[in-house]
Amino acid sequence: MKKRTHHCNELRTLHVGQPVTLAGWVHSRRDLGGLVFIDIRDREGRTQTVFDPSELAKPAFELASSLHSESVVSISGKVQQRPTGTTNPKIETGDVEVLVGELEVLNHAEVLPFPVDDPEVAGKVNEELRLQYRYLDLRRPEMARNLKLRSKVATAARVFFDQQGFLDVETPTLFKSTPEGAREFLVPSRVHPGQFYALPQSPQQFKQMLMVAGVEKYVQIARCYRDEDLRADRQPEFTQVDVEMSFIEREDIYNLIEGLLQCVWKTALGRDIPVPFRRISFQEALNQYGIDKPDTRFGMELADLTEEFRSSSFKVFSGAVAAGGVVKALNAKGLAGATQGQIETMTEYAKSFGAKGLAFIKVEHGEWKSPIVKFFSEGEKSALTRKLAIEEGDLILFAADQWLTACEILGKIRLYCADVLKGLGKLSIPAGRFDFLWVVDFPLLSFDKENNRWYSSHHPFTAPVAEDIAFLKTDPKKVRGQHYDIVVNGVELGGGSIRIHQSEIQKTIFEQILQISPEVVQARFGYMLNAFRLGCPPHGGIALGFDRLIAILCGSTSIRDVIAFPKTAKGTDLMTQSPSPIEAKQLRDLHLQLLRP
Ligand code: ASP
Repeated sequence: MKKRTHHCNELRTLHVGQPVTLAGWVHSRRDLGGLVFIDIRDREGRTQTVFDPSELAKPAFELASSLHSESVVSISGKVQQRPTGTTNPKIETGDVEVLVGELEVLNHAEVLPFPVDDPEVAGKVNEELRLQYRYLDLRRPEMARNLKLRSKVATAARVFFDQQGFLDVETPTLFKSTPEGAREFLVPSRVHPGQFYALPQSPQQFKQMLMVAGVEKYVQIARCYRDEDLRADRQPEFTQVDVEMSFIEREDIYNLIEGLLQCVWKTALGRDIPVPFRRISFQEALNQYGIDKPDTRFGMELADLTEEFRSSSFKVFSGAVAAGGVVKALNAKGLAGATQGQIETMTEYAKSFGAKGLAFIKVEHGEWKSPIVKFFSEGEKSALTRKLAIEEGDLILFAADQWLTACEILGKIRLYCADVLKGLGKLSIPAGRFDFLWVVDFPLLSFDKENNRWYSSHHPFTAPVAEDIAFLKTDPKKVRGQHYDIVVNGVELGGGSIRIHQSEIQKTIFEQILQISPEVVQARFGYMLNAFRLGCPPHGGIALGFDRLIAILCGSTSIRDVIAFPKTAKGTDLMTQSPSPIEAKQLRDLHLQLLRP
C-alpha cells in the first residue's frame, strides 16, 4: 500500500498539478460520459477522483467501474482544477479533483445494509439497524463530527482543569455495594465466594476520600453505572465530568463551572457565553416554572391565585386552600383553539400527579368558555385578567392542590403547551440560544409518604445550610441543603453540593434522619465516618453529565448520537449482542447458580 500524502479534506486549487496519494472509503460512484467519478472519503472529508479510460489501463478502469460503496481504496494521481461549471461549493475540496493513475483496492465492501453517503436517507434508517452496524453508522460524516467534537471538548476540559491546578485521578470500577441510590450492577467475586463488587454509580465516595487524602482539587472524566429501568434517553453506563475541591464554598464551584462552560462553548461552538449565570432558588423555580430545571427561554410563568380564591364560592379552589394548598394558573397564550385530544393529554398529566381533573378556560369570541367560570365573582375574574394578562385567544389552565403538586402539574403542562405552540408557529425560540442557570437552596430532605420516611434530595453526603442545622431533628423539611444544579434550556447538566465533613453530623443524617441502622451504617459507611475523624478538610464538588453536554453542543436530541457504542433503551448492545448467556463452568467458577424460571 502506498502511503497517503494528503487526507481527503486537504486538496485545494494551490495543489493543482501535484502528484498525490489518497486513501479512504468509496463514498459514492458515478459513471458519466465514459468517465467514472469516485468520491473518496476519510475521517476529514471527501475528494472527487476521476477515472478516464484513455489515461488508465483497462483492468484498472474496469476495477473502478465495479467498486461498491464503502470499499477501501488507495489512489494515486494528479490534482487538477475541475472544469468550469462542475465545481461543488458544498464540499471544501470542491474546486479540484484527482485524475487517477493508479488504483489499489485494499478491501472490497459487500452491499451495505444501509447507505452511508446520504444524510437524509441514513437519518431515516431504523436505529436498531444503525446500532447493529455501528461501525458503518459512525462512518457517516454527521456521526464522525459528533465523535470529533466530543474528543475536542474532553481535551479542552482536561486542559482547563490542569490550568486550574486539578489532579486527574482514576478511581476504581470495582466498588462496594451501597444500595441507597439507584440499583447497582453487581460483579461476583471468584476469589471470595458469595461476595460481590458493585460498579460505581459515581465516584462520590472515592472523590471525598481523595479530599481527606489531601488532593485538594480532583477531576476525572469518569464512567458511571446505574442499573435503572431505562428511560428514553438514559444509558446504563454514562460519563460524568466529576469534580471535587477542598477549602471552598458554593461560590467557588459556581465560578469554576462557569469558567469551564465558557471554555467549552468557545471550543465547540466558537461562542462567548456571558457569566455569571442567573441563580434561582428551588422554591422560586417551582413557583414560577413548576419544575426544578426550568426552561427560561420562554415566559408562560405560573401565577399564584391562592389569596384571590381563599374564600371563593368555587369549592374546588377554596377547598384546596382550606386544606393548606394553593391555587395556581398559567396562561398558554394563543392556545384557546387547543383540541380535545390536547386537553385530554394535559388532563392525564394532572391526573398522574393525583389531581381529579384539569380546570381550564378558553378565551374565544370575547367569551370565557368554561364550566367553572359561573362560580367566579367579578373580583376573582378581574384578578385573573390582571395576573395572567388574559386576552382573546388565550387558554388558562389551573391547578389547585398542595404547593409542590400544583406547581409540578402546571410545570409539566407549561412544557407541553410550549411544544404545541411551537408546532403552531405561535412560539419561537431562536436556535442557538442558551439559557444557563443555577438552581440553589434545594430542601436537604424529601419525605417519602409510602415508606413514611425522609430521604436525601441529592445524596446523604450533602451538607445542610449552616443556619438550618438546628432544625435537622425538629423540623427536617425546613432544612436547606448546600446543593446546586446547573441547568441549560430546561436540561439538568449536572449537580453537586458542599459535603458534610464532620463525622457526627454525617452519622446523625444516616442514623437519625435516614433511619439506617447503626450496624448497616457501620458496614457501608464506617470507613468514611472514620476518615472524617482523621483530618478531613471542608470540601464540595459537582458532576456534569458529559454525554448530555455533548448532545447539547451537537444539537442532538439523543445522547446515543454522541456515544460511540451506546446501548438500546432495553440496555442491549446490538453490535456485540450483549448481555449474553455464560457457560456453566463460568457460573461454577463464580460460585453461582441460576434460578430456573
Ligand atoms: N456524585 C453526584 C452525582 O453523581 C454529583 C456530586 O455530588 O458531585 O450526581
